[in-house]
Amino acid sequence: MQNDKSKFKINRKFKKNVLLRDYTTFKIGGPAKYFFEAKTEEDLIEAIKFVYQKKLPFFVLGGGSNILFSNEGFEGMIIRCQISNIKCQNSKIYTEAGVKLSDLVKLSSDKGLSGLEWVAGIPGTVGGAIWGNAGAFGKSIADIIKEVKIFNAKELRIKNYELRDCKFGYRESIFKKNKNLIILSCLLELKKGKRKEIRKKIKKNIDYRIKNHPLNFSSAGCVFKNYESRIRNQGLMKKFSELKEFNKKREIPAAWLIEKCGLKGRKIGGAQVSEKHANFIVNLRKASSNDIIKLINLVKKKVKEKFDIKLEKEIQII
Ligand SMILES: Cc1cc2nc3c(=O)[nH]c(=O)nc-3n(C[C@H](O)[C@H](O)[C@H](O)COP(=O)(O)OP(=O)(O)OC[C@H]3O[C@@H](n4cnc5c(N)ncnc54)[C@H](O)[C@@H]3O)c2cc1C
Repeated sequence: MQNDKSKFKINRKFKKNVLLRDYTTFKIGGPAKYFFEAKTEEDLIEAIKFVYQKKLPFFVLGGGSNILFSNEGFEGMIIRCQISNIKCQNSKIYTEAGVKLSDLVKLSSDKGLSGLEWVAGIPGTVGGAIWGNAGAFGKSIADIIKEVKIFNAKELRIKNYELRDCKFGYRESIFKKNKNLIILSCLLELKKGKRKEIRKKIKKNIDYRIKNHPLNFSSAGCVFKNYESRIRNQGLMKKFSELKEFNKKREIPAAWLIEKCGLKGRKIGGAQVSEKHANFIVNLRKASSNDIIKLINLVKKKVKEKFDIKLEKEIQII
């Protein structure tokens, strides 16, 4: 690629052998062969066209807060989405994909707009949140999306997706299923509210996270999705009284399942199932990607054995 006379300007802008651990909240990940930071929509589209033309493996990175990169690194181009225009009009916010969720929450509270309070304390970017339909406290990004602008890398064209086109579900979206859809920006519809009330809710949510999440360690948030069904096994129902309530809501928290398997605090290498919140795996000290993967597999095995439940990962392993 060094001698390539491509018309693409990004040839002059990408870096080589960039350590991915510096770009993820897990602080794990070997070198990316090529690394490009897209600061404008034009840059991002150009980079995508470039990798498609060169048939290079690629990965669009947001804030790196939902990802485990391998210590082996990535044999292709990491395109870090840093496009970050944001503006507010009446009760709508237009935001590009690389805007940090913390900046989005700040703007909405400054403008007295309600609907994003649950986002406070979630690291990462708007693009990553749309990709995985991020959510907390019973809300998700799908609740406030009006439109998502995407670049379809296969068809080489920009398109607007309305809410229903995004096929959002619990930590699901069409973007998760179709790698050709690159999120450029979106339009959010919020509600006018009282600044003081909004700030109070934000503080409450952040306090909850400080109290319940292992924020003093590197992690990628919750590792597994909650189990969205019921447990009918009578033996388990008798043993665990909480199951009655969970069954009513048709949602069994992954953290509860993991804790009941006695896995809180379990370590492999430098990785540990958090002692504070069992659905977090933390990088205690220089954990490798393999340490984390082994711990994930152990958790899955134990939960399957005890509850006959197949836990699904929320984080992505690359
Ligand atoms: C302490 C902590 C707490 C967390 N709490 C929560 C929580 O309460 N709720 C929750 O849902 N999540 C939570 N997370 C996980 C994570 O922060 C969110 O899922 C966040 O939205 C991910 O955004 P990101 O930009 O970091 O995505 P990344 O990790 O960078 O990427 C995630 C995926 O999105 C894709 N992607 C990113 N940008 C684009 C784009 N422009 N176009 C196409 N694809 C794109 C990537 O390719 C990747 O597949 C938490 C994480 C941590 C570390």
